[in-house]
Amino acid sequence: MSLNLLADHVRPLMADERFRFRCHPGVGCFTECCRELELALSPYDVLRLAKRLGLDSAHFLDRFAVVEQGEDDLFPRVFLAMVDDSRASCPFVDRNGCTVYTDRPAACRTYPLGRGASLKEDGTVTILHVLLTEPHCQGFAEQEEQDVAAWTADQGLAVYQRLNDLLLPLLQHPKTKTGWRPSDAQCQQYLTTLYDLDRFRDELPKATPEREALLADDERLLTHAIHHLTLDFYGD
Ligand code: SF4
Ligand code: SF4
Repeated sequence: MSLNLLADHVRPLMADERFRFRCHPGVGCFTECCRELELALSPYDVLRLAKRLGLDSAHFLDRFAVVEQGEDDLFPRVFLAMVDDSRASCPFVDRNGCTVYTDRPAACRTYPLGRGASLKEDGTVTILHVLLTEPHCQGFAEQEEQDVAAWTADQGLAVYQRLNDLLLPLLQHPKTKTGWRPSDAQCQQYLTTLYDLDRFRDELPKATPEREALLADDERLLTHAIHHLTLDFYGD
């Protein structure tokens, strides 16, 4: 879809604004949105999917990820590798729907909303939502009413948003606005620390405080990895 066409179907959504939407196996477009899409993965998405598939993070990345870094990207971006089936299908879709449903990525849960988070200079976070009314999506013809809070709760997004928002000091640090850019080695460190979490766990120094707790809790480990990298890159 072209950016202009996409822009025609995106509108800001107030936090308490209601919209009609429901997605279920009875819609005529069922699973159409699981094809021909760019699906960016956050570190928490990778953690959940790798665990779901019983793979360690390195094997998951090897089999299911594509890493790209555009000129405007501060750090490399990780995308789900689509299947070469002439429809660029998600590797996890079949005729019955999503085969990793309870561990599907945040972007799949968030649609038809889009959520933007920005870090202000005083450290507070501003959240903006948009509604993506893509023409092929028949979910908007359903009668069920939603709003941002109801949809967020229904889709189990709280844990994804909490862990993804922890990345804001790393991705939107004030130093990035005054020209700071990571070296190639730091870009690689970004990938290995946040996305190859099993390797980060294996390389955790013996003297790390809370080591046992970190080894036992992946969400805590990812939180630690994000803080570790932010401190290492920016010194605060
Ligand atoms: S296109 Fe819309 S209604 Fe159809 S399956 Fe996807 S989200 Fe559901
Ligand atoms: S992970 Fe599941 S919901 Fe997301 S695109 Fe793939 S099949 Fe669809």
